[in-house]
Amino acid sequence: MPELPEVEHVVRALRRVVLGRRIMAAEMKLPRLLAGSSPASFKRKLRGARIDDVGRRGKYILIGLNSKPGSATDQVLLVHLRMTGKFLCVGTDEPLPPYHHVVFYLDDDRRLVFCDMRQFGRMRLLARKALAKLPQIQALAPEPLSEDFSFDYFVETLSQSRRCLKQLLLDQTRVLGLGNIYASEALFLAGISPLKAANSLSKKRALRLHQAIRDILQEAIDAGSTLRIDFGDGNGSYFGTTERFWRVYERQGEPCVNCGAAIRRVVQGGRSTYFCPRCQRR
Ligand SMILES: [Zn+2]
Repeated sequence: MPELPEVEHVVRALRRVVLGRRIMAAEMKLPRLLAGSSPASFKRKLRGARIDDVGRRGKYILIGLNSKPGSATDQVLLVHLRMTGKFLCVGTDEPLPPYHHVVFYLDDDRRLVFCDMRQFGRMRLLARKALAKLPQIQALAPEPLSEDFSFDYFVETLSQSRRCLKQLLLDQTRVLGLGNIYASEALFLAGISPLKAANSLSKKRALRLHQAIRDILQEAIDAGSTLRIDFGDGNGSYFGTTERFWRVYERQGEPCVNCGAAIRRVVQGGRSTYFCPRCQRR
């Protein structure tokens, strides 16, 4: 499942492919993927729209559209990849890839295709001014790499929760951007047990965790500039072609890179957590 850095990679790859392009036509082949409007109005509103910007908020991809020439960006296409959603780009003479559910015909004789094997991905087309009022956007915590995710904010958030740190870190309304992989990795980097209660963390260790969250996300985003997603390769993989290296994630039983102790796996909230029992103190 893509986490924030992988979504950022997709956003950057999209910019390279679709920025400034006009959507000549759109096809919605899986209506239940679409929230808030009918496939007919989706197609009508997208026809002729120019793609003015591509960004994201958390793991939501925001494609800014301009449907009236000469005016400002007036619509936003919100895309959530969930488990297996991905974009690919194919020429008009190439076959469509498997599990293609949405096809955007671009004005450069290419098609941007949204594929989703598991079909959990979601799309919503809405007016630009309605975006900030959308409940799922409003609920999101500050962007982790922005100044809004300050140390003061983090300490306050920790003090309000008795949950285990790992579970708090996965709550996108409290701390944004960490999924199962990066939550484990950030706690390892900070040397803190995932089982520790959030409100029991000292200020000194909270500072280490705050920094580790930013470092782990930045590191993963930077890795994406070498492991560039290529929408034209028929794969569109989030993690690129090279296997990514995780310090603890999915490494149970293997020696810790710091101390050599065996990495342990526990289940928290139905999801696996990996940690070093020696380096990560309670
Ligand atoms: Zn260790």
